[in-house]
Amino acid sequence: MRLAWMISLGVGATALLATMLSVLAVTALGPGLASLHLSTVLIEAAVAGALGAAGGWAGGWLLNGQLVRLRTILSTADAAEAPTARLMAPLDGLARRHLEVIEELAAESRNARSQVRQIEIRKHLAQTEVEHLSGVLHSLRDAVLVTNEFNELVMANEAAASLFRFDRESAINKPIAQVLPEKDIVALIGEAAEAGNTSSRKHTECVLPRDPEPLNLEVSLSSLAADAAHEAASVVTILHDITQERQVSRMKNEFVSKASHELRTPLSSIKAYIEMLLDGEAQSEKDRREFYEIIQHEAERLGRMIDNMLNISRIEAGMITATWETVDIVPIAQEAVELLKPQAAEKDISIHFQRPHQACHAEIDRDMIKQVITNLISNAVKYTPEGGRVTVAPDLTDCDRSVIVSVNDTGLGIPPESLPKLFSKFYRVNKHERVAKGTGLGLNLVKQIVEAVHHGEVGVESEVGKGSRFWFIVPCKQGA
Ligand code: ADP
Repeated sequence: MRLAWMISLGVGATALLATMLSVLAVTALGPGLASLHLSTVLIEAAVAGALGAAGGWAGGWLLNGQLVRLRTILSTADAAEAPTARLMAPLDGLARRHLEVIEELAAESRNARSQVRQIEIRKHLAQTEVEHLSGVLHSLRDAVLVTNEFNELVMANEAAASLFRFDRESAINKPIAQVLPEKDIVALIGEAAEAGNTSSRKHTECVLPRDPEPLNLEVSLSSLAADAAHEAASVVTILHDITQERQVSRMKNEFVSKASHELRTPLSSIKAYIEMLLDGEAQSEKDRREFYEIIQHEAERLGRMIDNMLNISRIEAGMITATWETVDIVPIAQEAVELLKPQAAEKDISIHFQRPHQACHAEIDRDMIKQVITNLISNAVKYTPEGGRVTVAPDLTDCDRSVIVSVNDTGLGIPPESLPKLFSKFYRVNKHERVAKGTGLGLNLVKQIVEAVHHGEVGVESEVGKGSRFWFIVPCKQGA
């Protein structure tokens, strides 16, 4: 409409120009009637054009009115040769009116331009917001699916596409049942859509069969009906992977139950021997002494277990601060050997210290590394039958960038199926339980100290009946 109106105005303006040209011609030629008639014809043609083109726009109508007046004057002038001034009066009015129209038109045009600018700014802002939101949605680690009231997929982020292994582009607008093979989730979305906006946000959990382990997902569904009357609704489904949380809580439960079981064993033993002593079952001094020694031994075991548990959980919680110093590991290993020699001697086991040709400096927490070496030698002695041999060998490795300490024994060895679990908390090789008492925490503490604190590595090679080689490597410089 506005465009038609503007065209009309344009044509009207052309007509006016023609009118004014004619008037100028009149003025220039004087009252010559032939010229006036010629001008009249020109104006008439222009007005007709304006009216025809603009389809009756008011400007044309106005011009035509002025023309009628002009023709009357001209016909009078024709007869009486009226002065030019009489012709100018209606043309002045016409020009004024036209100027007003042009000003109105300019104001309208300014207004329209500013509105267009505002719309463009709003459009730009809306586009930026959409891009921003889509960026946020795609950067989310949670999978997001949006389906309409017909259960067709209208939006899915990259996390959703990779979780359910579909191609985002081709999945859009397809029924969700075709996109997701997981019937449980499709059913949940269908239920939420049917419930319309009467349903509030719903949370549930589901398990996705995946390799190597199934995924635990927390599913939240929100229905968004267009209006209250709508029966079905669009559904926003957010799937949060809680596999790790579930694993951690499972491990915690396992730890608590294993720890309480392991703590109860020495405690029950202590309790039993105290009861026997109280009941007078140890009649001789020798028996009593034996009972006291068992109690002392079990109490020490209990203390070691509690210390190990505390140290492991402190390292796991990042609560242990290492006291870093660059020291030679060779004398530390030798100190540990000396410490365990009496224990080895009791079983007639010889401990050999293989001194390297050079010093083995590394940035370590001295006490923690000494504990690691002590634990490994103590195990070697524990699980090696009488008359066996243990060798402790520190050395430089990895082009002198790391220090390796290995502890070899000629002991029982470890069955291959036990090797992957050997460094887990409370793990003990079944057959070894009769050979020596233990906590099942020593090797886990070794692993925590070497790997979590010193950024190194632990390992074992073993053959049943022949012996084992436990080793650990720590970098000479932390953070290098
Ligand atoms: P424990 O207190 O039972 O010794 P560890 O965590 O130190 O606990 O060791 C876990 C298990 O690993 C032991 O119970 C034992 O079965 C096995 N093990 C550790 N060291 C050796 C070794 N040198 N030879 C054979 N088995 C070993």
